[in-house]
Amino acid sequence: MVRRYLVAANWKMNMTVSQALPFAAQLATLTGGEAAEIAVAPPFVALSAVGQALHSSGVVLAAQNCHAASAGAYTGEVSVPMLADVGCRYIIVGHSERRQLLGETDSLVNEKAKAVLAAGLSPILCIGETLEEREQGKTLEIISWQLQAGLAGIPNEVRVVIAYEPIWAIGTGKTATAAQAQEVHAHIRGQLRKQWKEGAERVRILYGGSVKADNAEELMSQADIDGALVGGASLQFEAFAAIIEAAKKAAGRKK
Ligand code: PEP
Repeated sequence: MVRRYLVAANWKMNMTVSQALPFAAQLATLTGGEAAEIAVAPPFVALSAVGQALHSSGVVLAAQNCHAASAGAYTGEVSVPMLADVGCRYIIVGHSERRQLLGETDSLVNEKAKAVLAAGLSPILCIGETLEEREQGKTLEIISWQLQAGLAGIPNEVRVVIAYEPIWAIGTGKTATAAQAQEVHAHIRGQLRKQWKEGAERVRILYGGSVKADNAEELMSQADIDGALVGGASLQFEAFAAIIEAAKKAAGRKK
């Protein structure tokens, strides 16, 4: 099955609104065509301004996080309806930085994914093993567990996106080889088949972890890699644009 790629930019805690606006105007010129959908996840405070700059472009808006409750006494938090209201189509949940630095658990990530789906948006559910877990040969076991817990109680695949991000590859310059990534992506697809049967074929599974212009095409040419979640390289226009071009070439190879 041909799945339209998703290439999503995660700006993390970078860019003030003043910096984001001219950058978003550049990003608005990008087009992924039939091959790839492009999403950009700025910090919360820049969502509204970036959303306006991207309006009627080929690039959609995403958020980096959300709270699972729709409203209430949660000082400092941002709900899914608020994110929907500013035009987000995707919300990243369970990014490893939030799991590791802010103590997010699998069950909290599951609550967030359900809240995103309930509002009609798409969660990008991040999963991935540490270097220690990989060296102990536990990668597939950890991935199975995170997937099962993160998707618990989610009855069908519609709108769910998975991002496999080995923690040892995030922001480190070390990328999983295409073969290492494909092995895990195929395992994820197999797990999804158990839960959603043929619906698993429609799920996009993104790779994330030091994706750059020079490795993106090889990674995205793998059978079960359907796009990329890009951190560092998404902060430079030329680098991100080159990754979009790589996605188009990889998609062309799969036709
Ligand atoms: C990420 O933050 O999701 C990520 C993959 O970062 P980087 O591309 O910088 O490794």
